Amino acid sequence: MTTPDLAVPPGSQQYEGASLEARDIRMRFGPVEVLRGADLAAQAGEVVCIVGPSGSGKSTLLRCLNGLETRTSGDVLLGGEDTSAMDINLLRQRIGMVFQHFNLFPHKTALQNITLALCNVKKIPKDRAAGIALQRLRDVGLADRAGHRPTQLSGGQQQRVAIARALAMEPQVMLFDEVTSALDPELVKGVLRLMADLARGGMTMIVVTHEMGFARQVADRVVFMDAGVVVESGPPEQIFDAPRSPRLKKFLSQVL
Ligand code: ADP
Ligand code: MG
Repeated sequence: MTTPDLAVPPGSQQYEGASLEARDIRMRFGPVEVLRGADLAAQAGEVVCIVGPSGSGKSTLLRCLNGLETRTSGDVLLGGEDTSAMDINLLRQRIGMVFQHFNLFPHKTALQNITLALCNVKKIPKDRAAGIALQRLRDVGLADRAGHRPTQLSGGQQQRVAIARALAMEPQVMLFDEVTSALDPELVKGVLRLMADLARGGMTMIVVTHEMGFARQVADRVVFMDAGVVVESGPPEQIFDAPRSPRLKKFLSQVL
């Protein structure tokens, strides 16, 4: 296994993270129960990586955390506060999410992709929104690409714009769902570095990833999911070097 070099100078940006806890999350699509009582907790400023086979419910669990999917039962607490009574727009501002396919608006520039939500959701005036967007683009190293459309950017740059867009909303938690899986190999490192930088800045992060090197290096805790439940979780050394459950051992033998 090659471990990417994630050493970067500490970022200037510091983040105010909040804890996020999911208790006994259940979710069914028709007759199929895809989450069967999943538990997850990240303390403020912690990075939790979720690993596991395809179809094990990782994406569904993330989507349940910020209300993109409606769970059948279970509780989600943000900063200790029950989110079920929270306004859904506020919840999605507080818990930002970045996807495998960047979901940028193709006909808008990088800057406009960021200002759009600031103006529409946060009701921030256009000129102030532009200032914030430019600052976030600077944070992800793309200030000089503000006027470019997605097609004029590499996949890695597009993903960094998507991360900047999520950060512009000043979330307390960031969810990442396989954000490097669609990237050409040579572009993966830049995005992982940015994520490591966010982690160092104190952002609370829940990261679904196949990048085991990233999980080992950056995660405070690694969670292994299979068939809709968390099978095992612990510090990276425990999960990767001393796995206990046969299912995790088998998974690691396939991916490492
Ligand atoms: P993972 O992210 O671990 O690959 P997912 O959360 O995407 O897993 O999917 C878990 C299970 O739920 C899979 O069996 C998948 O086919 C199913 N599933 C996901 N989304 C839907 C949906 N919208 N409708 C029906 N089944 C779904
Ligand atoms: Mg998925």
